[in-house]
Amino acid sequence: MRSILYFVFSAFCGAIILCLLSAAQKIYMGWPMMAQAFFVPAVFGAATGCIFYFYTRLCRRQQRRADMLTARESQLNNVLSAAPIGIGLAADSIFLEVNNYFCEMTGFNRSELVGSSSRIIFPSDNDFERFIESCHAQIQEKGVGVFEVKFRRKDGAIIHVILSAKPLDDADWSKGISFTAVNITKRKEAEASLDRRIVFENLVSNVASGFLNVSGDHLDAGLNSALEAICRFTKADRAYIFLMRKNSSICDNTHEWCAENIEPQIHNSQNIDLNDPETMLWGKLCVREPYHVPDVSALPDSLPDKEIFESQNIRSILIEPMYLNDRLVGFVGFDSVLTSRSWSKEDIDILSLFSNNIALVMERKEREQAIIAAKMGAEAANIAKSKFLANMSHEVRTPLNGIMGMLQLMEMEGLSPQQKVHYSFAMESCRRLTGLLSDVLDISMVESGHLEIVKGNFDLNEVLDSVYSLFKPVAVHKNLELTIRLAENIPPKLMGDSNRLHQILNNIIGNALKFTEQGSVRVEVSSLRSITPGQVRVLFSVSDSGLGIADNKLDTIFNSFSQVNTGKGRSYEGAGLGLAIVKKLLTLMGGSLAVASELNKGTEIYFCLDFDLVDENKAEKKFICENKNSIKKFKVLIAEDEEINLLALRTFLERCDCHVSIAANGLEVLEILSSNVGEFDLIFMDIQMPKMGGLEVTSRIRAGEVSAENSDIPIIAFTAYAMAGDKEEFLSAGMDGYLSKPTQIEDVVKILTKYSIVQ
Ligand code: ADP
Repeated sequence: MRSILYFVFSAFCGAIILCLLSAAQKIYMGWPMMAQAFFVPAVFGAATGCIFYFYTRLCRRQQRRADMLTARESQLNNVLSAAPIGIGLAADSIFLEVNNYFCEMTGFNRSELVGSSSRIIFPSDNDFERFIESCHAQIQEKGVGVFEVKFRRKDGAIIHVILSAKPLDDADWSKGISFTAVNITKRKEAEASLDRRIVFENLVSNVASGFLNVSGDHLDAGLNSALEAICRFTKADRAYIFLMRKNSSICDNTHEWCAENIEPQIHNSQNIDLNDPETMLWGKLCVREPYHVPDVSALPDSLPDKEIFESQNIRSILIEPMYLNDRLVGFVGFDSVLTSRSWSKEDIDILSLFSNNIALVMERKEREQAIIAAKMGAEAANIAKSKFLANMSHEVRTPLNGIMGMLQLMEMEGLSPQQKVHYSFAMESCRRLTGLLSDVLDISMVESGHLEIVKGNFDLNEVLDSVYSLFKPVAVHKNLELTIRLAENIPPKLMGDSNRLHQILNNIIGNALKFTEQGSVRVEVSSLRSITPGQVRVLFSVSDSGLGIADNKLDTIFNSFSQVNTGKGRSYEGAGLGLAIVKKLLTLMGGSLAVASELNKGTEIYFCLDFDLVDENKAEKKFICENKNSIKKFKVLIAEDEEINLLALRTFLERCDCHVSIAANGLEVLEILSSNVGEFDLIFMDIQMPKMGGLEVTSRIRAGEVSAENSDIPIIAFTAYAMAGDKEEFLSAGMDGYLSKPTQIEDVVKILTKYSIVQ
């Protein structure tokens, strides 16, 4: 078109020029006129040429610009359509333009989008309205809006997009709002998977650390809830633990968790031998690899695993072996029953950590069970030992009582001088046997924690007097000087376990006399400054001028059965229990002990004990009187089934002018008492008797079953039960006194004296 105009215009110009030239030729015919005629056309011609030239250039430039614009537009279109982000233009929520990528991103084609409402790409009206609202607000505030939104593609899939929008004209949004959209779905999925991984790892590590605080009793419940937590998180339908039996390929399903409506399999899964080379499971377990079957139906039919899995409706399975060091201890499994699934590598790795952890837990459980079994075994052994000791004590004391009783009866009947010597040896042997029995029982009671310290008021003077009178004959016999000195500043009335103090002094002083051939044994009792108000700390020292103890033996003499002079050639009696008992008793009583010794010079043993001070006025009155004349003539009932023991006690009592009746068992006691109400002053009651034992008889008497009058009759336990705590048990059962077998006449006299005075 332009070229035609150009052509017409040029022709028109040429025509004008020619007309002018011919007109000029006719009008002016002279030389100057010629010159004039030449000049004018030339000027016109030049002017025309110039005009033509510039016009032509202008036209060309415009042409070039138009070409460039066209090229740019096509480039821009190419850029827009090749851009890896969605770009478009919209006005009043209507798409005016969108690029190819936006179409690809949303799944709609261009014609479906352009002219349509942008609601089309939002999942719901709500999402769309929220977006429009915040878009307007942001653009108004910042001039540009950037949002993370969800689009719903044409195929229904939801994608995550970062959308930026800016009006073409800030003043007039109706001209359109340009936008870009970047698909961030993959990043979002990666983030979500990372988040899930972190949560899963945390879950497994929480489960693991949870086991650290779970006690053995709650371990099974802990394992079941760990399986549940993992299943709920991973959406597995069933999880379980199989444990291998020791040194065997046989395993048992020990723990299982099943989702709702999933059938448990634990009952079908006991005593399973895994060692089937045909199965892939055994192969995988042996090489310590997880066994992952995303689709059980795709397994070859020849594989035995398939049949097993299908019999339990398993569609997918993951099995993680459990190893301790290099030993297969079991496996943890996860089944998918409702749908098939493929476990991700990450999940498989995390679950392998879980299975390792379970292996450690199972090891701990095994160890704890072994400890519990060992403890129960030890406790059972201890109970058996205590029972044995109690029985032994009873069974040995009973005949010993018979022997001692008979010896004492013989002595009462009068003996020749030679017989008296034999009698005293026999009695001494019996006493030693009784002492040994007591020592063995004491040591075992202390070791089993059954020996109790029984506190009561006592007079320290009396204790020391009694010790002195016990050992004086020995000292005289060995020609040794025995002195016992009590510092004046110690109040004599104290509270503590005087029997145990006796025992300690007896052992230490007995040793001092035993291991000293010449010189002296000195006992000093002084007070130390006490730390606790209301208490006195008493220091006892026993020094002798005897054998002494070598330095290297000082540590061991306090061990049970430990003696310095051992071997067949040893000349000192003893079982090596005395000092061991002393040390244990002192520990129980809160005391301490020290030894200083020099070979062939002598030994000093120091111990100190705290005693409570006693208000003199409140002190119990003691009724110990050796004067036989003060003994009342009692009517005594002896309940005893053992004839020899009965004979001895009966004779002792009759010698003390008592009138004695006999009951051979507990029922007879009740009968005799009911038919002789108020007749008896005292009962000596054996504990172990046929038909009815002594404790039951006592409780019936105290309950007034026989008669109210008899209900407070003094009852003395006469028994071979002489273990620590026995006496206290009998007293708390309602008995008033305690006479242990073997019995000596002095003990019987003491009891009779006491009740004579009391009455
Ligand atoms: P034993 O029944 O043998 O006396 P102990 O436990 O009382 O048992 O004493 C352990 C050992 O300590 C004794 O066998 C003896 O060798 C040594 N021993 C104890 N006291 C003395 C002492 N005063 N002098 C010398 N040795 C002593």
